[in-house]
Amino acid sequence: MKYFRPNSIDEYHELLVTLKETSMSILAGGTDLMPRWEPDKGLMPDVLIDIKKIDGLMGIRENEDEIIIGALTTIQDIKKSILMQNEFGSLSEAARQFAGVQIRHRATIGGNICNASPAGDILPGLYVHQANIQLIGPNGSRSIPISKFIIGPGKTMLEPGEIVSEIHLLRKGVKSLFYKLGLRQSMAIAVVNFAIAYQQDSNGAFTSLNIAAGSVAPTIVYLESFVDAIMSGVSLDEAIQHVDIDISPIDDIRATADYRSTALKNVLEYNFRHELHQGNE
Ligand SMILES: Cc1cc2nc3c(=O)[nH]c(=O)nc-3n(C[C@H](O)[C@H](O)[C@H](O)COP(=O)(O)OP(=O)(O)OC[C@H]3O[C@@H](n4cnc5c(N)ncnc54)[C@H](O)[C@@H]3O)c2cc1C
Repeated sequence: MKYFRPNSIDEYHELLVTLKETSMSILAGGTDLMPRWEPDKGLMPDVLIDIKKIDGLMGIRENEDEIIIGALTTIQDIKKSILMQNEFGSLSEAARQFAGVQIRHRATIGGNICNASPAGDILPGLYVHQANIQLIGPNGSRSIPISKFIIGPGKTMLEPGEIVSEIHLLRKGVKSLFYKLGLRQSMAIAVVNFAIAYQQDSNGAFTSLNIAAGSVAPTIVYLESFVDAIMSGVSLDEAIQHVDIDISPIDDIRATADYRSTALKNVLEYNFRHELHQGNE
């Protein structure tokens, strides 16, 4: 395997021209990529391009309208960010519940997005805040909403040679929360996770509501039928039955489809009653 570590986007593009058709992998933190390597079975890339030293892809910055997160920003940096705590609670909480401290220091937000796992903890918060994913490639740059960027388990809209450079979040003053159910307290892959972004009037009625759930379909899904039911004013008990319309869980080593559906409805209902003060607490 050949290893390259460009220091800038220009160097990266020059490298792509020389590599042409070779099978290559992008390496960020390596916490998803490296456990998949099986040298004995030949499951290794021919070329590894380590993007960690590329200038300008790390850190969280702000302007009046947006918060911009570099793709190489670590989950630990998101966890520590006061800006994220104040304005994007679901992402901050997802980072807090993410793996353990060693992994959080290596793992990047760009890696979580490009890995496109249905259980990725950072993803539901990005969906409910309608994040835009900025890409840079040999043919220039473009921006795609997260829900269009991820197209299946492990599948994204990345074209050959393209990398994620930034994540853009609009500052709309929307509150959000994140909930994760795992089979143990820490270092757990989610059996179910979700983020809720919402605004409420002084009586507690929702003026906006957006929910995205993970581990209950091939990709993160918006719980649109449930949200429509809540916004139409039906009871929480009735609305919760609509969740099954939005999800398509499967059985796997962590849980059965039935368990995921029941667990999602229970923890969603719990959050609506106790965190958002809907229905009878
Ligand atoms: C012990 C352990 C615990 C974990 N716990 C959690 C958890 O609690 N929650 C959770 O969601 N995940 C968890 N993970 C999974 C993993 O840590 C995350 O998905 C992490 O965010 C991946 O980031 P990375 O930088 O390490 O990505 P890498 O492994 O470097 O890359 C992952 C994939 O994305 C591609 N890629 C990376 N960055 C870019 C980019 N900028 N542009 C284009 N392609 C790119 C790579 O080519 C690769 O295909 C865990 C993993 C381990 C090993």
